[in-house]
Order: sequence, then C-alpha cells, then structure tokens
Amino acid sequence: MNEDCIFCKIVKGEIPSTKVYEDERVIAFNDINPIAPIHILVIPKTHIDNYMELDDTDLIIHVNKIIKKIAIEKGLNKNGFRVLTNIGEDGGQAVKHLHYHILGGTKLPTR
Ligand code: 5GP
Ligand code: ZN
Repeated sequence: MNEDCIFCKIVKGEIPSTKVYEDERVIAFNDINPIAPIHILVIPKTHIDNYMELDDTDLIIHVNKIIKKIAIEKGLNKNGFRVLTNIGEDGGQAVKHLHYHILGGTKLPTR
C-alpha cells in the first residue's frame, strides 16, 4: 500500500467509491468523472504503479477475466466497448496506481 495513493485509499475504504465488483485481489468502481455512459475502473488491490510493473501472471489472467465478466454483466459485449490503461506522463496517467478503464454504452470516438 502507498500512503499517498488515492486508489490505495479507495481499496482501504478511506475514500468512498461506487463499487461494481470486489474480490480478494481486485476491485472495480465507477469513475468519478465519467467520459462515457459506462466508465468503470478495474484495479489490483496491491499497489502497482502501472502496466509496466505488472508481472504477476495470475493477476494478469485474473484481471482479464474480471474485465470480461463486468463487460458481460453490463451488456457491453453486445455492441462493443473499450479497455485501456494509461502509462506514465505521456500516456496521460493521472493516478499512479495501475487501473484499466472500461468504457462503453455509446459509440466511442476513434480519436
Ligand atoms: P488516468 O488518467 O490516470 O488513466 O485515470 C484516472 C481516472 O481516475 C480518471 O478517469 C479520474 O476521473 C478517476 N479518478 C480520480 N480520482 C478518483 C476518485 O477519487 N474516485 C473515482 N471513482 N475515480 C477517480
Ligand atoms: Zn495505490
């Protein structure tokens, strides 16, 4: 856990969030500032800075499964959706705790 990390605080329940999924390894919650009708963030509970630091094969597989599960539950698999993770300064990563954006519920802009 990282003391100054807002997503670690969400994991610990110190900052409230609207959770859509939780298990022992990951949580998913609605983005506070959604850019699509469905905008969910999926994060590991352990602090990992970003995608480049993600080496745990079991966790990688698990996160992939959970993203698909949430997408199906929200009906996003019907028309499609987007999964993305921003990395570092140029990637536009504002929160330095690995998170995957699930975006959908509308036709998303391609650029
Ligand atoms: P990034 O730009 O790092 O890929 O995305 C960070 C995302 O986290 C943004 O979409 C932002 O709206 C979201 N976010 C930042 N702080 C909070 C928060 O306290 N709660 C929730 N639910 N989302 C947050
Ligand atoms: Zn963190």
